[in-house]
Amino acid sequence: MTSSARPLLNRRLAEFGTTIFAEMSALALSTGAINLGQGFPDTDGPEEVREAAVRALRDGLGNQYPPGPGVPELRTAIAAHQQRRYGLSCDPDREVLVTAGATEAIAASLLALLEPGDEVIALEPYYDSYAACIAMAGGRRVPVTLHPDDDGFCLDLDELRDAVTDRTRLLLINTPHNPTGTVLTRAELAAIAELAVERDLLVVTDEVYEHLVFDDAEHVPLATFPGMRERTVTISSSGKTFSFTGWKVGWVTGTQELVTAVRTAKQYLTYVSAGPFQYAVAEALRLPDSYFDGFRADLRRKRDLLGDGLRTAGFEVYQPKGTYFITTDITPFGEKDAHRFCRALPERCGVVAIPNSVFYDDPAAGRSQVRFAFCKRDDVLHEAAVRLRRLAS
Ligand SMILES: *Cc1c(COP(=O)(O)O)cnc(C)c1O
Repeated sequence: MTSSARPLLNRRLAEFGTTIFAEMSALALSTGAINLGQGFPDTDGPEEVREAAVRALRDGLGNQYPPGPGVPELRTAIAAHQQRRYGLSCDPDREVLVTAGATEAIAASLLALLEPGDEVIALEPYYDSYAACIAMAGGRRVPVTLHPDDDGFCLDLDELRDAVTDRTRLLLINTPHNPTGTVLTRAELAAIAELAVERDLLVVTDEVYEHLVFDDAEHVPLATFPGMRERTVTISSSGKTFSFTGWKVGWVTGTQELVTAVRTAKQYLTYVSAGPFQYAVAEALRLPDSYFDGFRADLRRKRDLLGDGLRTAGFEVYQPKGTYFITTDITPFGEKDAHRFCRALPERCGVVAIPNSVFYDDPAAGRSQVRFAFCKRDDVLHEAAVRLRRLAS
């Protein structure tokens, strides 16, 4: 402790404590409950991708600092992926940057693009790193809240338009959206794009769940809309798509100007990371469509498995169109406080979940919402469903 009365943690970060995931994962450990809190798969990704990482390690590929922008093999594979899936062309040498997961890409983008006092509009409830990164960059966050309705959570485009002021610099968009599972439609994205062009805003889009869309939903990158390529930083990652969340290989694509700006911040955060894994992810991105289709079908089945279990247990379930999360409401149990509900849940029935209230500026907004992850083995989801049924009795 220093002698002054000044707190150690600076003012920008004062409001941020330990993340909810640490609290709830510790609870899962101490109680032996099934952890449907943090969103990581409990089985690893494709064997051939894991073998590619082993081969890279053995062959001495990436064991020393890889190039700052990422290894050429991976940058080429990312550019080819954007072209093949979305018809977006980017130059692997100038318009692609490999990062330490999407997390670093988000941080570097905001640190590079914001001046202190700039307003950033983000869809609320938001992914937990957004608020902290906006704060570290000295920006001001302005939430636009997604509202629950019969069809999941919806964006009110008028609210989005009204949130833009002369100080708005950037829209931080996440689709498919964690934690609600909302996938913005082509029409919604077109309206966002029009707004960005009209008000001359930068856009950072977090598309880490780009391959996890279900039913009739479709993922369309914002960068594909008219006038958007030159103002959009597109972020994705291998963690969710290939079930290797520990590897932390993410990337940014955009124009040379945008990528250069982001790289300027990124080079002083980690400089580089995950050398051998970059080679493995390059191979992963070249997997045939059958991998991506199979992965999506598998997760869709898991969504339905857990969703049915939650409905049977008595939760109100907001059907997700993407991601690997289901947001529920606990009001049918006569409960109102999701945080309290989640703290008691391991004791009551041996399951851990996350209260969505922590993803809102105003916790009252998401007070009765609880999020469950379904990226788990079928037997784990079955067992969770059996345990959750105890709530009904
Ligand atoms: C998991 C996740 C990230 C982080 O991705 P990493 O590649 O693991 O850093 C970013 N955004 C959202 C919405 C996520 O769910």
